[in-house]
Amino acid sequence: MARYTGPVCRQCRREGEKLFLKGERCYTDKCSIERRSYVPGEHGQRRQKLSEYGVQLREKQKVRKIYGVLENQFRRYFEMADNQPGITGENFLRVLERRLDNVVFRLGFAASRNEARQLVRHGHFLVNGSRVDIPSYLVEEGEEIEVKDSSKDMTRMKEILEFTSQKNIPEWLEVNFENKNGKVLREAEREDIDIPVREQLIVEFYSR
Ligand code: SF4
Repeated sequence: MARYTGPVCRQCRREGEKLFLKGERCYTDKCSIERRSYVPGEHGQRRQKLSEYGVQLREKQKVRKIYGVLENQFRRYFEMADNQPGITGENFLRVLERRLDNVVFRLGFAASRNEARQLVRHGHFLVNGSRVDIPSYLVEEGEEIEVKDSSKDMTRMKEILEFTSQKNIPEWLEVNFENKNGKVLREAEREDIDIPVREQLIVEFYSR
């Protein structure tokens, strides 16, 4: 399945809520959801009654869009979570949180997960001192993530840090903005994950 390349804000409008896909813009009144919160398309302003399946599907699509993961990989993460002990829905979110692009975003080295994915792909980050340019790389507890020396003075990195240093960094991560590095202290717990998701609906979707 190909990656979605259409207008980014349309994805938020489709789900009817802010998914924070665009970084700085999402926090301004230029956000499309602030201006047109209805579903895009000719019939977007009609009230829609969703079936049980529809509700589960929309929840799954929403989380997939937030993390920017394609369907096949998303399902693989679910299978991985399902094979782990504990609550599948929580395991699933924990696996998604471990993606390198998400960790870079959570550490504040990118304004959005989309930007984090692009920066990782372009090789701007080291994990435990080695270049890792795979956004889906799953970080482990204790690993250190660092902006590559030659990227530390990039104008965009300075702009990002100016914006993100105001944000809260989750407790499972530690960051040093001055040295532009961070560390995974532990796995994310459910209460650390602040995205508005009912993960049980996704479990039900894939368990059909
Ligand atoms: Fe979504 Fe951000 Fe666009 Fe608003 S600005 S619609 S939150 S991507």
